[in-house]
Amino acid sequence: ELSNSLAAADIAHQLHPYTNARAHEEKGPMIITRGDGIRVYDSTGKEYIEGMAGLWSVAVGFSEDRLAKAAYDQMLKLPYYHTFAHKSTEPSIRLAEKLAEMTPEHLTRCFFTNSGSEANDTIVKMVWFMNNALGRPEKKKFIARHKGYHGITVASGSLTGLGGNHRDFDLPAIPVTHLTTPHFWREGAEGETEADFTARLLKEIEDTILAEGPETIAAFIGEPVIGAGGVFVPPEGYWPGVAALCKKYDMLLIADEVINGFGRLGTPFGSQRYDFEPDIMTLSKQISSSYMPLAAIMLTDAVYDVIADNTAKLGSFGHGFTGSGHPVACAVGLENLKIIEEKDLMGNAARMEAPFQEGLRKLLDHPLVGEVRGVGLIAGIEFADKTTKVNYAPAGSVAAKAAALCTEEGLIARNVYETLALCPPLIVTEEDVAEILARLGRALDRLSDWAKDEGLIA
Ligand code: PLP
Repeated sequence: ELSNSLAAADIAHQLHPYTNARAHEEKGPMIITRGDGIRVYDSTGKEYIEGMAGLWSVAVGFSEDRLAKAAYDQMLKLPYYHTFAHKSTEPSIRLAEKLAEMTPEHLTRCFFTNSGSEANDTIVKMVWFMNNALGRPEKKKFIARHKGYHGITVASGSLTGLGGNHRDFDLPAIPVTHLTTPHFWREGAEGETEADFTARLLKEIEDTILAEGPETIAAFIGEPVIGAGGVFVPPEGYWPGVAALCKKYDMLLIADEVINGFGRLGTPFGSQRYDFEPDIMTLSKQISSSYMPLAAIMLTDAVYDVIADNTAKLGSFGHGFTGSGHPVACAVGLENLKIIEEKDLMGNAARMEAPFQEGLRKLLDHPLVGEVRGVGLIAGIEFADKTTKVNYAPAGSVAAKAAALCTEEGLIARNVYETLALCPPLIVTEEDVAEILARLGRALDRLSDWAKDEGLIA
């Protein structure tokens, strides 16, 4: 009853992100009503393992009372205050201090926003603000990658390298060049080794810098492991090579760790797994396990000093959000990071990597699976012909069907283009991993039957 009337109201009044609205009107919503550990339950009472941690974000699981208490206590004490014009609050101060302690040593300063998109938009403006201050206003362009995801606001959506986020929105709206996705299996040329591939991608970056003019290129932005675009693990040597080019051409290196950060890859930060030191780091999602909207931009002293000197000259940094450093979000974020540390969830992600990734690699025997990739607790299963690597038509249909069958089997996974993504909460145990693999296995068995009926495979 309740679920029918809620569904009707949803259809009547809500326009959903990333959703075909007309199909939604037909199909209605899947209403999630409660969470417990790695599991969520819908309004019919059906149980699911949340194999995507929500949107790659709920590190501590869906029932952490300590976060509810942190929010409640902070709401009673001071539900809101801002951080504009010298005002501050204890939660924002404590969280900034905690982030400086947790992130690599060279990242010392923090600016808060509400979302990853706002953080990357803010970074674009910071970089422009800096280069204006340094008397080189022509140095404004960004280099990003195809299939990178940096958000959907006008500037961050421009940095994103996915056609669907550009087409029909008149993006990119800022000067950005998107280069080859660092994905050896798909982008590697005939006969090319992984080392050759890395060298070719680094040459592409350098050629682009030289063609455009180093005096015009401000920064390189990338996710250490690309997430939302399809889970792409970079080839050996790629990131140190990118970092060297940034140094050579006086460009800032921005690591978007919105998905990678706080243990997802089995190291505290993705840039540590791939051995490079960004000048700027974007953090969100697991920073608060998404219990509250929160994002942070980490800066080096060198970056901070340019900005700070310019604010002294201009009188202000003319940028900030009502919710920048929101005390409730920061209190929840701080408690969440304490839980991640106390429960050693980053260590757990490292320990779960082998059972999770090795279990998934067994799916390479599946007739529809072209590649299985991932590190730590993030993975992608791409559906394609094993020998030709051609994806099945219509585009994305097999991954969509796989995700639908997973849902039926009680596993929430996410189809991104031709890939089925998994990114479970960092609290998963070995038994949980086995259960995820079992449910996935049942879904993919059914996928084979479906594909035979559809004539996709013999
Ligand atoms: N950057 C990365 C790497 C992301 O994965 C996302 C969201 O998925 C964003 C930025 C944008 O964050 P938000 O959805 O909070 O705006």
